[in-house]
Amino acid sequence: MSSKLMLDLVDAVSSAPVGTVVAFPVDTAAEVDIVRRWCDATGNSVLSVLDTAIEVFRGRITDPIEALPVERRPGYRLWVYTNFHCNLSCDYCCVESSPKADPRVIPLGEFRDLVGEAVDSGVQELYITGGEPFMLLDLDERLVAATAFLPTTVLTNAMVWRGDRLRRLEALPRQGLTLQISLDSPTSELHDRHRGAGSFARAIEGVHTAIDLGFRVRVAATLGTDAGNAEAELQQFFDELGLQEDQRVVRRVARQGSANAGLTVSRTSLIPEVCVTAEGVYWHPVAAIDPDMLVTKHWRPFAAALSAMRDEYRQYRIAGDVLASAFPCA
Ligand code: SF4
Repeated sequence: MSSKLMLDLVDAVSSAPVGTVVAFPVDTAAEVDIVRRWCDATGNSVLSVLDTAIEVFRGRITDPIEALPVERRPGYRLWVYTNFHCNLSCDYCCVESSPKADPRVIPLGEFRDLVGEAVDSGVQELYITGGEPFMLLDLDERLVAATAFLPTTVLTNAMVWRGDRLRRLEALPRQGLTLQISLDSPTSELHDRHRGAGSFARAIEGVHTAIDLGFRVRVAATLGTDAGNAEAELQQFFDELGLQEDQRVVRRVARQGSANAGLTVSRTSLIPEVCVTAEGVYWHPVAAIDPDMLVTKHWRPFAAALSAMRDEYRQYRIAGDVLASAFPCA
């Protein structure tokens, strides 16, 4: 070990204030290794390794992922867009789904592979969405395959359960499966304004069908910028339906896809939730057609895609913390 290197390192880092970054020159992988081991032993942190230098953070950086509650950590939950076509064309659909949308279906075999690799990578929950997943006539096979390994939630507008689709619904497993049904308001006015005339009545019918068939149901509302005090009325309506706290979701619309107003989201503003579509891996399901949110075009191997997403999240958070400590506002 080079004593000159060690002396220079100690001198450079110990003279820097805690919470700041020192770019220390290194020439070889062996020198990088020395700096890493010194940082581990002395309570400092390697921020990044550049071509001719290593950035050392003065002090210990805790892993931003470890700091999250377990169920919020990237990779706990996997979202899959099985398809993008839908019987509706809601005016704030975050992925521009409609009856005319290119279906972009993930083939059944690939879906099975994805679930298998996700399980191997530690995924604990699966969420299936679209488009309207029940447009797929093989959705029942997918749900049977998925629930054998993971608690699975399928998002639906609950409007296509007729004829053969109703029979396939009836035959689905109840164990490990939740049907998350979109319902934006307790009366038709607001829901139909965004989702189309008659959609509220069909969705309510679907909620009762699912409950009567013994499925675990969650009802999810998306509130547009015109929602007013709809949330209070919704909560009362959820009470009347007998829904528990974990069976209700109320969220604001995001400015994505067809929505021309709503919350602005980005990679740096959202904790990632791995989302796989036929076109690649996205940072979050609310932005699954946004090119700025594409992490990689290939989900295989799943572990590598997940790792890339986690590393990027760490870098954003660490950079944010470093900046915050470099520019204290008070
Ligand atoms: S918001 Fe849901 S129901 Fe409406 S078009 Fe999009 S996928 Fe279909």
